[in-house]
Amino acid sequence: MIPSPAQYLLRFDDLCPTVSHPRWQRFLPLIEEFGLRPILAVVPDNQDRELILSPPDPQFWARMRAMEAAGATIGLHGYRHLCLSLGRSLLPLHRHSEFAGVPEETQGEWIREGLGILRGQGLNPRIFVAPRHGFDQATLRALGQEGIPLLSDGFARLPFIRGGLIWIPQQLWGPVAKNKGLWTICIHSNSATDAQVAQLYTFVREHAAEFTSVGRVLAELTPARLGLTERLYESWALWRVRAYRARKRRKLRSR
Ligand SMILES: [Zn+2]
Repeated sequence: MIPSPAQYLLRFDDLCPTVSHPRWQRFLPLIEEFGLRPILAVVPDNQDRELILSPPDPQFWARMRAMEAAGATIGLHGYRHLCLSLGRSLLPLHRHSEFAGVPEETQGEWIREGLGILRGQGLNPRIFVAPRHGFDQATLRALGQEGIPLLSDGFARLPFIRGGLIWIPQQLWGPVAKNKGLWTICIHSNSATDAQVAQLYTFVREHAAEFTSVGRVLAELTPARLGLTERLYESWALWRVRAYRARKRRKLRSR
């Protein structure tokens, strides 16, 4: 059953010791004031230069532990965030990805190593967040083998089971009011503008009671295989996002 009224989950991507400190700190009062329990998508061994925006924060891991203790869910955000593979993802939103198309054995190693790094820092990673939505059937099998049954991705309006994993959909990149469904809003703290941060504050203030957590989602919404209607909705939603992105690319090129 699609939840009604709507529920929202927040997800913060690209967290690592070199995340832009001033930009990340803009969100902390919001999380604290409203007792939000977001998904914190942490890169275990970041090697992506685009995510090196501040000197490494010696307090980073302790801060993540404290936020997990306060109710956040730790996500495994890939391994090194190096998106060098051209394999086709189950969610084809980007040409390059870290995982899709990489041999299954290597994917398994990266997932194992990544989990080891996060656990070595005292965190309990529970959900996989693929960099650039890039993952394939091999990723799903490797996650299952490593005991990670959850994935944050997909365009349905409720959590569902596919490929042996529970998918908690992630469909939004900014707040949008909805009547029904479970909506994950993905935020990139490094690139969010101050106007986008202000918009998120306004939205959370208005909808605070509708914000949920991974734990609550799993306790309240029993995931099952998607029925035909929701599968059609999912295909349409994916098509819409791809069309929107293609339009944006064309606009950029014609500038
Ligand atoms: Zn990322």
